[in-house]
Amino acid sequence: YPKTRKTSAFLQQYTPLEKLGKGHFAEVYLCVEKSTGRRYAVKIFTKTPGLEERAKNEGLQLEIAVLMGVSHPNVLCLRDTFNEHNAVYLVLELAPEGELFNFIVMKQKLSEAECRKLFTQLFQGVKYLHDRNIVHRDIKPENILLVDKDLHVKLADFGLAKIIGEESFTTTLCGTPSYVAPEILADTKHRKYTKAVDIWSLGVVLYICLCGFPPFSDELYSKDYPYSLSQQIKMAKFDYPSPYWDSVGDPALDLIDSMLVVDPEKRFTVDQCLAHPWMTAQPPNPNDSTNGLVSGVAGLEVNRRGVHRERTLLASINEVKVANKVPLGDGQSDLKIYSKNPKSAKGKEARPADNRDPKEFIEMGGK
Ligand code: ATP
Repeated sequence: YPKTRKTSAFLQQYTPLEKLGKGHFAEVYLCVEKSTGRRYAVKIFTKTPGLEERAKNEGLQLEIAVLMGVSHPNVLCLRDTFNEHNAVYLVLELAPEGELFNFIVMKQKLSEAECRKLFTQLFQGVKYLHDRNIVHRDIKPENILLVDKDLHVKLADFGLAKIIGEESFTTTLCGTPSYVAPEILADTKHRKYTKAVDIWSLGVVLYICLCGFPPFSDELYSKDYPYSLSQQIKMAKFDYPSPYWDSVGDPALDLIDSMLVVDPEKRFTVDQCLAHPWMTAQPPNPNDSTNGLVSGVAGLEVNRRGVHRERTLLASINEVKVANKVPLGDGQSDLKIYSKNPKSAKGKEARPADNRDPKEFIEMGGK
């Protein structure tokens, strides 16, 4: 636990315990409120010139401003903040079971019923945010935290969240490569940044939850499949390879197809997602061969399911997470992702990811 002055108002009210996690800008600890014995998580941003620069760039201030105004069962809420001499403390609701990412890695993939339970909560959390014109901008399994083993979840890490007004365009590139929407990869002139980016990311998460591997991946790049990660995303080029998707019903695929749509105007809204037949499907009837799912909704091309292709499960490519977090690239790429503080990318040593198309590096500022 970082050294703090004895006069710290935070330490007067809370006792910090073990470390729960670490991001690029903050460390997260379990803490107990002295007066009540209640447990919380505290996200500590140690003050460094980098942090001050980030704060100047609205990152931390924005995270606090967004979190201050939100209160929903599926959004990780902020309880208190302390701005002290050497650190900023955000006291947050505790999500004792940690990241959904680790849960998927452990289980390899989730059943349709588990996914439906998960996505009912995620869509409700995102609807709450979108109804308030807040776009999360960095939805991924690492930022979905589990409250219990019964799959109750909360959306976390609002470091990139933005309250959008009339002006829904931005020149800043944010997000995590595998989850980022095609319009974010478009050139600055045509880049449009709206609530639709969260639906795309949720579509990627839903795909991963149902099969255990991502829809878009550098892993797929080959002579026979000459599409880089950014090309796959920009064209929404993905399929449902056999045998992994054989047991998943058409309605789930139809929902993913409606979320991973290149044109943000044509992509489903969160309300459409919530109303989709897969979401409203009844629990499975054991006597029903269709497994309780609504059939015939999809209109899917048959060949989308027909491809037999080896895919590596998230469980065995844990480095996907690392690749998403480590700053990569040298700026030569067709896929540059800046996050939080675009300036901080400068001066960082460039290095391509080991398994990437050498033409495609990902430059991540601060991520
Ligand atoms: P990033 O590098 O993704 O921007 P960050 O610096 O914003 O990260 P978080 O992602 O918010 O930090 O937190 C880092 C990790 O700490 C999380 O991935 C999670 O494992 C853990 N964590 C964060 N908040 C909580 C919480 N409320 N309850 C339990 N664990 C938490």
